[in-house]
Amino acid sequence: MKYILAIDAGTTSSRAILFDKNGQQKAIAQHEFPQYFPQESWVEHNANEIWETQLKAVKKVLATKTIASTEIAAIGITNQRETTIIWDRKTGEPVHNAIVWQDRRTASICDDLSKHASTFLNKTGLILDAYFSGTKIKWILDSDPNIRQRAEAGDLAFGTVDSWLIWKLTNGKVHTTDVTNASRTLIYNIHDLSWDQELLSLLNIPASLLPTVVSSSEKVGETDADVLGVTLPISGIAGDQQAALFGQLCIEPGDVKNTYGTGCFCIMNTGEKAVASNNKMLTTIGWQRNGKTFYALEGSVFIAGALIQWLRDQLKIIKAAPEVEALAKTVKDNGGVTFIPALSGLGAPYWDPEATGAIMGITRGTEKGHIARAALEAIALRSRDIIIEMQKDARAEFSTLKVDGGATGNDLLMQIQADLLQKEVVRPNTTETTALGAAFFAGLAVGFWKDEDELKSIWEEDKTFQPKDNPNTERILSLWAKRIPKVLKDNG
Ligand code: ADP
Repeated sequence: MKYILAIDAGTTSSRAILFDKNGQQKAIAQHEFPQYFPQESWVEHNANEIWETQLKAVKKVLATKTIASTEIAAIGITNQRETTIIWDRKTGEPVHNAIVWQDRRTASICDDLSKHASTFLNKTGLILDAYFSGTKIKWILDSDPNIRQRAEAGDLAFGTVDSWLIWKLTNGKVHTTDVTNASRTLIYNIHDLSWDQELLSLLNIPASLLPTVVSSSEKVGETDADVLGVTLPISGIAGDQQAALFGQLCIEPGDVKNTYGTGCFCIMNTGEKAVASNNKMLTTIGWQRNGKTFYALEGSVFIAGALIQWLRDQLKIIKAAPEVEALAKTVKDNGGVTFIPALSGLGAPYWDPEATGAIMGITRGTEKGHIARAALEAIALRSRDIIIEMQKDARAEFSTLKVDGGATGNDLLMQIQADLLQKEVVRPNTTETTALGAAFFAGLAVGFWKDEDELKSIWEEDKTFQPKDNPNTERILSLWAKRIPKVLKDNG
């Protein structure tokens, strides 16, 4: 056997990637699917379109001339998390469009349940928020008495995107999800490792809807030959951030990775212990393998690469995102400028949804290079804010930050991050760490790779950024500490 096929079911596109034994990418196919915005703050996908684009991507990879499907050992799946699909068990037809993780329509359901917030937090590690699947399931069931009735009769199935794709790939034979996806639903008890009856009752969700929950790395079924033209074991499942954590081989407690995309997603392995956060970070399941459950702390920054988009699209001081690096290098430091990137409030650890952004410290000498530099520093500072708090929550000090995502191509940003954290920042060779993590889970389950040591031997870094003793670092940090409070609501 030569390959593992990773299915990467993202928020905007469906991808299939083939990896060889060295973790090298051998084939890739990608198809975008439409996003639907039926009302302000609502975001939907058509679950059949997710499936059709995913199937097309998989078939395209399988059709690669140099690759025989008999050489594929297994399939691993990673997916956009929390997005909620309910379908008919007999016909396989979704009863409603998928409600996407970004969708805020259930905020008022969360408000109504607010007195139970600590129950949800203690059992699931999650903040009672519209982001997660639980209230989205409730919303679909409440949207139509007929749907509710069919659910009560046991005719319907709920799943996140992983469940839905496995159901389709196995032609309706397997209805399952893994612990990482279950841990994002708001109805899964991450300590008992089971669906939680009290939470199901609070949300009025019948247990008959739910998939069985499996580990992240075990054989759950086979693709149906009628669907793919070939029978392949499915043996790895993990939500995207957790798959990336494993793909970055953050396998020891304290290991941490940060993804720099539109926002930043930071996730820290806390070992076999679920750590509660003092800063409203989420406690979540990192993965489960060989009977062991690893937990993680997760924090996100809403605006990261989006700040660079703002420089490009609104301020128009660059034409393309990568130009920001050269612009920032036209100056030797930020010239006293701090960019507070609160373009949509400020998340952890400030948690002020009403904060707005600011560029402070402008003088007659300020150039656009200073603003570009301050923007890069802002991305690194917001990530630092989160990582420092996570370290405190986990009481674990890390030595290396593993990074991925589109903005990590920016060497200056990576160096600023290393300097501000005074930690090594390591960028891997592959940019596809999420898909690689899913492949790792699938490959370990079928013996394609023997163990984590073998994975370590094939994992390649592209570049390590060593922290430098930069005289500006202290100034950047002290200006940040002084200026951030000025945008918080309490200070006008
Ligand atoms: P997403 O998965 O959230 O769409 P990507 O991982 O594709 O994000 O990264 C794209 C983001 O990274 C964009 O917000 C873009 O502004 C930013 N970006 C891309 N290249 C650079 C760069 N060289 N420097 C800084 N930001 C960048």
